[in-house]
Amino acid sequence: MKSKEKRVLIRIIIAAVFVAAAMLAPLEGVWRLLAFLVPYAIVGWDVLWRALRNILHGQVFDENFLMALATVGAFCIGEYPEGVLVMLLYQIGELFQDLAVDRSRRSIASLMDIRPDWANIEREGKLVQVSPEEVAVGEIITVKAGERIPLDGVITEGTSSLDTAALTGESLPRAVAPGDEVISGCVNESGLLRIRVTSEYGESTVARILELVENSSSRKARYENFITRFARWYTPIVVIAAVILGLVPPLFLGNWSEWINRALIFLVVSCPCALVISVPLSFFGGIGGASRKGILIKGGNYLEALAHAETIVFDKTGTLTRGVFHVTAVHPRNSTTETLLEAAALAESYSDHPIARSLREACGQELDSSRVTKVEELSGRGIRAVIDGKTVCVGNQKLMAEEGSECHKCHRVGTLVHVSINGQYAGHIVISDEVKQDAAGTISSLKELGVKKTVMLTGDAKEVGEDTARRLGLEEVYTELLPAGKVDQVEELLKQKSEKGRLVFVGDGINDAPVLSRSDVGIAMGAMGSAAAIEAADIVLMDDKPSKIPLAIRIARKTLRIVRQNIVFALGVKAIVLVLGALGLANMWLAVFADVGVLVIAILNAMRALRIEK
Ligand code: ADP
Ligand code: MG
Repeated sequence: MKSKEKRVLIRIIIAAVFVAAAMLAPLEGVWRLLAFLVPYAIVGWDVLWRALRNILHGQVFDENFLMALATVGAFCIGEYPEGVLVMLLYQIGELFQDLAVDRSRRSIASLMDIRPDWANIEREGKLVQVSPEEVAVGEIITVKAGERIPLDGVITEGTSSLDTAALTGESLPRAVAPGDEVISGCVNESGLLRIRVTSEYGESTVARILELVENSSSRKARYENFITRFARWYTPIVVIAAVILGLVPPLFLGNWSEWINRALIFLVVSCPCALVISVPLSFFGGIGGASRKGILIKGGNYLEALAHAETIVFDKTGTLTRGVFHVTAVHPRNSTTETLLEAAALAESYSDHPIARSLREACGQELDSSRVTKVEELSGRGIRAVIDGKTVCVGNQKLMAEEGSECHKCHRVGTLVHVSINGQYAGHIVISDEVKQDAAGTISSLKELGVKKTVMLTGDAKEVGEDTARRLGLEEVYTELLPAGKVDQVEELLKQKSEKGRLVFVGDGINDAPVLSRSDVGIAMGAMGSAAAIEAADIVLMDDKPSKIPLAIRIARKTLRIVRQNIVFALGVKAIVLVLGALGLANMWLAVFADVGVLVIAILNAMRALRIEK
């Protein structure tokens, strides 16, 4: 409990003791009034003060105003104990709400407890601690066992296992060795590691995740906007109704204090805080719970859209497949295996495409990239580069056709990477990829969740794409697409879906940023994906596992269920008590339950969104 909350609690306790005493003491007249005014002032002075200040600023009709009006009114008609107790319970409700918001903030902050405090760096032969912001790209940092990796980089020395749970929700430690890329935020469990930093702190994984989570509450779901608009109308209407109820009937029927009492009950019930607080809290909880599982959601609106997922479109390479290709055959033409592999690997020296990585790997030797002078990356087709003055093209059939080079077919199953040198066909390399372990399971659980259509889009060849789609059980597959073709296809699918349904696109982010932003919800693979994709995406899967998508949908649906329950429950109870109050059948206690009790129940319900069962 923070000190502010402690102070409120102490005031509540003192005021409670005073009211109890006042109720027991045999006091009359002014003395009795004073005896109740003391606890009233102790527990409610800040509410009165805020109500007054807001009125001076032209903001009437907030909850402070409602409470001030209701309790002052109670004093005016001589219902002193009610006046104090309504204020007392209101403060208890507020305290409860502060604690709940704090708790979910804190639990998200601790999930996100990945902000590194320092980096160890060697300066003048000594290891010193500096702030991560001060480390430049290319510097070597040292991470001791038990420390958090402060910056993204590549291991130059040391082996260890990393705890990535805070980032990916994955509980198994990951073994790392020199040459491996590591991301900031993981904890080094055992050995001493030296890491060459590859990006500045501002660009690091940790900084991007923190920024994303901090901004997530600014993107509101429809429900949240609805509640804000609703409260703006609802409260004034209830206040006006209360004024009419308190003034008009007694003109004809007399009995002023009875009608004013009914009007005050009306006022206490009318406070919409249960909704105003619990709805955003539920979304906050859903987003927090998801992030604990390595699913980063950039806003409540995406959570809401995800719950209505109808069509899910997947990219193939890096999304459904691991994106780690193995060379299965090399078929040189007018060339040798070594020169073919070397030319391909050199041309790919600067590319981040999974194919490029595997060709560099397959070549095996240290490459002298200064031999490469001009490089063009042609997305969806391949690479054109100038090596030792010769134009080398590495890519698919489309690229060969553009170059005017012939192009051979192959009897092997797999993705063909063709190579041409100065427009002359130099042969092809057959590579193949593995589908991710959980890919097939993902598609079947999506169907169980009622997703109508699963689609795969790929730039890869027809045979390879269709084979993968069939094995995974996807309904539709479109192959040999350029990035622009993927956008067109998504547009087409957007037209086919129903009005309420949403289209989700899942990609690894290598040249699919345009589709990610075009679809209703764009999901990117965070570990494999590029910075641009994480930027363009609405949801990022930290561990690249497609099976997190059905989980995310389940979290989204649960969150929305909680939100709907709270809205129906709060409005329902309030409507009943309002009617009972107007008819004179409800007393102040019931009104307080309809306000504070409903608030507490709604908050407790909202906190469920944070818990994700297995
Ligand atoms: P996907 O849609 O499956 O993710 P891409 O759109 O990234 O695939 O690429 C489509 C095709 O373009 C690949 O299958 C490959 O034939 C070719 N290609 C793209 N980039 C490269 C590259 N860097 N090197 C070789 N071939 C490439
Ligand atoms: Mg791709």
